[in-house]
Amino acid sequence: MEISHIEHLGIAVKSLETAIPFYEGVLGLKCYSIEVVEDQKVKTAFFKIGQTKIELLEPTSPESAIAKFIEKKGEGIHHIAYCIQDGVANALAEVSEKGVQLIDKAPRRGAEGLDIAFLHPKSTASVLTELCETPKQ
Ligand code: ZN
Repeated sequence: MEISHIEHLGIAVKSLETAIPFYEGVLGLKCYSIEVVEDQKVKTAFFKIGQTKIELLEPTSPESAIAKFIEKKGEGIHHIAYCIQDGVANALAEVSEKGVQLIDKAPRRGAEGLDIAFLHPKSTASVLTELCETPKQ
């Protein structure tokens, strides 16, 4: 697989409304998109830093994986997403062949309409790892 850069860092927050002022007011970044991803029961806010993004994740339901993460570990870095140049499906097949445990056996639609898939932290030194399709420029 070919990774070009870190697509985004996912950060779990209890409230976007509380978290966004730090990124905008202190770091001087601009929130360019707020989007609900029904599938994952989260509301996301995106900031760009060069080619890389920060994705804040607020749970929209107690059933959300993000709600459970915050309950267990508190707010903080939740996952790292790599930008895959040659297709998420290809990358999944490749890592699966190498014995990596997958959360998603096939790509699904993530925030910003991009194909994504998660690898299991058991296979990634406990870092929840997301493979993300290259955004169309
Ligand atoms: Zn993500």
